[in-house]
Amino acid sequence: GRMPDPATVTSLVEEAHRRYGPISEGKVADYIPALAQASPDLFGICVAGVDGALFSVGDAERPFSIQSMSKPFVFALVCQALGGGQTREKVGVNASGLAFNSVMAIELNADRTVNPMVNAGAIATTSLAPGANAEEKWKFIREGLSRFAGRELQLDEEVYASEAATNQRNQGIARLLLGYGRLYSDPDEATDIYTKQCALNVTARDMAVMGATLADGGVNPVTRERVMDADRCARVLAVMATAGLYEQSGDWLYEVGLPGKSGVAGGLVTIAPGKGGLGTFSPPLDGAGNSVRGQLVTKFLSERLGLNLFASQ
Ligand code: GLN
Repeated sequence: GRMPDPATVTSLVEEAHRRYGPISEGKVADYIPALAQASPDLFGICVAGVDGALFSVGDAERPFSIQSMSKPFVFALVCQALGGGQTREKVGVNASGLAFNSVMAIELNADRTVNPMVNAGAIATTSLAPGANAEEKWKFIREGLSRFAGRELQLDEEVYASEAATNQRNQGIARLLLGYGRLYSDPDEATDIYTKQCALNVTARDMAVMGATLADGGVNPVTRERVMDADRCARVLAVMATAGLYEQSGDWLYEVGLPGKSGVAGGLVTIAPGKGGLGTFSPPLDGAGNSVRGQLVTKFLSERLGLNLFASQ
């Protein structure tokens, strides 16, 4: 099936914004000091079809840091560079069922891998980025994510500095992984590049386009550039489906029926394979660190646009 006609998508995106705008639950993340300043009222939605059609409402052009939504796209780039098999073996692909920053997740798995959607596996993934030095590895990631977005993404220096000053826990995760032979570069370098990738600014529109690129087997719907191969895209969507919303990934799949990934700055990206991408931005988060409005909007649009992968029609 395809996305419904443009008039229907437009009216449903607008209805979702009206419907969930008044919701006031959730709390803006404050463990990264710079994120605590975000207004809880910001609210943007964008749907991007694989044909390049864009449907935006509200604060869809407002920049915010990508945070954990970088994880599937960096995993995609590393799979593309190293091959899916090797990346899987080194990083792991099983859901942890634990919080995004869990250290226990590493201890609980016999081979000490986790999965690329939580911090441990994401830092391991970043440590696999090709390049002779930190600068080249960062360039690989920044340019790769920019190809998914179809424009050059910029680092939010304030968010980066703020997280770099407070990311002792991620530094610890990187060292623990190294101790188990599950980190593949210098741990401080990997944590620093990971912190930078999380501090790249995006908009809900960018996330919709990035999602639509995965939805179309790796072709950016706006620039028409092939960013990666289709068979590898399918693997990325699989890990998003099982672990994209951390310990609430089961609830998410049950309700929405689509692969998605959240970030603590309030972003949420969802992919309807073969159809398009959805990007939402609303900073207040639930207890697991997932945007409250983002989840409501996505559930609504998945149902009303007929996107659930498990629906028979
Ligand atoms: N940079 C954040 C961290 O590592 C990303 C977490 C997230 O978005 N859930 O803590």
